[in-house]
Amino acid sequence: MVMTKKVIFICGASHSGSTLLGLILGSHSACFYAGEVNKIQFLNIKKEHEDKSCKICGRSCPIWGNFILDKEFGLYKQLSKLTNKPIIIDSTKKIAWLKKQSNKLEIYQSKYLIYILRDGRAVINSQLRKYKDSDPEELIEKWIKHIKSTDDFYYNFSGKKIQIHYEALSSKPEDIIKKLCNFLEISYEKSMSQYYLHEHHPLGGNTGTHYLIIKAQKDNKIDSPIQLSERNKYYYLDHPLEIRLDLRWKKELSEKIIKIFEKKAGKLNKSFRWND
Ligand SMILES: [Zn+2]
Repeated sequence: MVMTKKVIFICGASHSGSTLLGLILGSHSACFYAGEVNKIQFLNIKKEHEDKSCKICGRSCPIWGNFILDKEFGLYKQLSKLTNKPIIIDSTKKIAWLKKQSNKLEIYQSKYLIYILRDGRAVINSQLRKYKDSDPEELIEKWIKHIKSTDDFYYNFSGKKIQIHYEALSSKPEDIIKKLCNFLEISYEKSMSQYYLHEHHPLGGNTGTHYLIIKAQKDNKIDSPIQLSERNKYYYLDHPLEIRLDLRWKKELSEKIIKIFEKKAGKLNKSFRWND
């Protein structure tokens, strides 16, 4: 039986590229990217919920389809056994979950934390695109709160940890993937950046990114429940599969919202800004 040797946590704000990063790392032969694992609470519930099953293959998923958590045995151990992978990746954003899970690991399971940083203005723009009627100020407040608690978790994390910028990952993927492999003490595998050619079973995460995989694998006739919003559909249909930097916020975010953001969060955003 394959045991879990490492658990890799990916933290950061939502819409920061953690799905992309998870899929890239999950394309390594020793790794399984489980997605936002706290979403197991929604698995197979009766009512409609976008996170009630695997984001790639839906309810017929070989990993999550009949998954029942064995609390005694342990979540990550169970996933290693099911997938035959000794390294499990969890990209849950909720700090309470990360604290609980990282404290529960056994002595032989080493833990790693990757904090993915993305310019807060890009994050707010993505959220406004997804939740059109939301109040920008409220989103900014939420971002501030989440970043402060994530910073705190990162600071106190006792395992190996690293920060990377989404913008660096998507503009120089090979360099950053090599750097991360080195950090995680795993060999670099060239096909990792072609994450869409590998098998994945993530819970939660970015639908657009998952859609790219489904598009690439449509020859496999995978039946997926994914629905894309009109705006996203337009963008992703013309989107090449290769990793590419998304700077749509520069065109889409209004001057007014940028001003509000600067006033409320400009200082905190300093280490998140990307000026390459
Ligand atoms: Zn699946």
